[in-house]
Amino acid sequence: STVYLNGDYMNAEHAKISPMDRGFLFGDGIYEVIPAYNGNMLGFAAHIERMKNGLNELEIVLDYTADTWREICQQLCEKNHGENLGIYLHVSRGADTKRAHAYPSGITPTVFAYAFEIPAQPVSDIDNATTYTVSVEQDKRWQRCHIKSTALLGNVIHYQHGAAAGNKETILYNRLDELTEASSSNVFIVKDGVISTPPLDNQILPGITRWLILTILHSHSDFKVQERIITKQELFAADEVWITSATKEVGPVVKLNGQLVADGKPGKIWQQVQSLFTEHKFDY
Ligand code: PMP
Repeated sequence: STVYLNGDYMNAEHAKISPMDRGFLFGDGIYEVIPAYNGNMLGFAAHIERMKNGLNELEIVLDYTADTWREICQQLCEKNHGENLGIYLHVSRGADTKRAHAYPSGITPTVFAYAFEIPAQPVSDIDNATTYTVSVEQDKRWQRCHIKSTALLGNVIHYQHGAAAGNKETILYNRLDELTEASSSNVFIVKDGVISTPPLDNQILPGITRWLILTILHSHSDFKVQERIITKQELFAADEVWITSATKEVGPVVKLNGQLVADGKPGKIWQQVQSLFTEHKFDY
């Protein structure tokens, strides 16, 4: 495949970075994943805004504008001509001559981007939906989960625990038994017709899909929607549980630690929300 590295497009096997890169040594970087269906990107402006926020928080100075990023994404779509692509964007602080914890001055960030195949756009059909069985365990990551850092080992370990149990995600709760998010998704529950999701803070990533769902629901539906603290007990007693991410969209969870969610099928509200999402997701 054709990838982008520091201003140039090249075959993936020719893309090389230094082992002194702080992305490699410290996981010192920020990343994004943007879905592109036949070249139409989903949530592009919001993804770029979140990346800028992350770079600012890490004090990584990069002079790429949103237009620069758009051009890179479009080029990758064209050069890799897939129908359903995820565009991965990655900025690390760059390579120094020595390994030292302090942020070095005067180094140039490393910018890498590539395209990979993703599943077709999710459908809002109860009988043909992609469903998720998930593990549930205590969140043992750091206290800066709002930063989309490339240092993902905490998330990777949680995901692996779910995978080892035969599941496709791991939902997490904190030491107060409050729901945070999943290893690579945000979480929503439905109880008695009310849709709830944990509020934004340092414990969760501000998911673009989460934001799109809330925005679409507020402007195109009269569903009752709450951003509030949700307990682990509420999770297990929910009528519906969804995990959301750029490629999953509204992902219906059918089993938690082996226990069925309601009747073990995607719910009626899931069906309506994924359908609204499908209708309006490219509006923003
Ligand atoms: N939380 C975590 C930890 C994630 O890695 C992701 C996906 N990158 C999300 C939530 C969902 O974010 P988005 O909707 O922007 O894909």
